[in-house]
This record gives sequence, C-alpha cells and structure tokens, in this order.
Amino acid sequence: MPVSGLGEYDDQNVFARILSGEIPCRRVFEDDWALAFHDIAPQAPVHVLVIPKARYVSMADFTARGSAGEIAGFFRAVGAVARQLELETPGYRILANMGPDSGQEVPHFHVHIFGGKPLGPMLAR
Ligand code: 5GP
Repeated sequence: MPVSGLGEYDDQNVFARILSGEIPCRRVFEDDWALAFHDIAPQAPVHVLVIPKARYVSMADFTARGSAGEIAGFFRAVGAVARQLELETPGYRILANMGPDSGQEVPHFHVHIFGGKPLGPMLAR
C-alpha cells in the first residue's frame, strides 16, 4: 500500500541504485540493516546518509510497515555510524525529511547525519 504523499516505492530511485551497486558511493558503514555513505553535496564538514536496505519510501512508510527488528536495527546503525565517525564527543545532528513540506528529494527513507562544526540553529529561517 502506498503511504500518503510519496506513492509507491520506485526501484529506479538513486538510493536503490546505490544499494544495488549500480551507482557508486563513498561507503562508511554497512550491516544487515543499513548502508551509510557520504552525501554527494555535503552541507557540513561531515554529512553522511544512512539508509535501510529494504524498500521504504519515507519515515512514514518505514515506521508504518517496518518490523520492530528492522526499525531497531536501522536506528542502532545510525548511532553506530555517528560513533564510528567520532561525532559523539563533539556532537552531531540527525535529520530525516518526509514529504513535500520537508523538501524530501529521494524517495527511499534516509537519515542525514551532520557534524564536524557547531551546527547553528536547528532550522533555516
Ligand atoms: P533529501 O532532500 O531527500 O532529504 O536528501 C537527499 C540527499 O541525497 C541530498 O542531500 C543529496 O545531496 C543526496 N544525493 C542525491 N543524489 C546522490 C547521489 O547520487 N549520491 C550521494 N552520495 N548522495 C546523493
């Protein structure tokens, strides 16, 4: 079933093609649940994307259809990536865009990890 706003999963979206190996990425982490790689257009000194390995369009889709194991595994992976990047002491920000008002561009659920400098206000004004 489609989840409101973003429609059915598109197997040709850019993150699906990264997962299949069709498009290269600068990988920083991979386990059974998630793949993490550097954003192609970084907006902070550290800007990494963490994506689930399964086909979820958005945060809404993932939290509606994902199993407890998938959700726990994915968010543990987000924490593990930040730890691996040595961001825990200086701190970091995570962000997930969901749907039109957020400006979500890629219809495969993903969490951004930002760090490497003081990040300023939470939202652009
Ligand atoms: P969204 O706006 O959907 O939350 O974020 C999508 C992110 O994916 C953007 O920050 C964009 O720079 C990144 N991105 C888009 N295409 C590619 C790509 O081919 N490779 C990588 N590594 N990042 C991408």
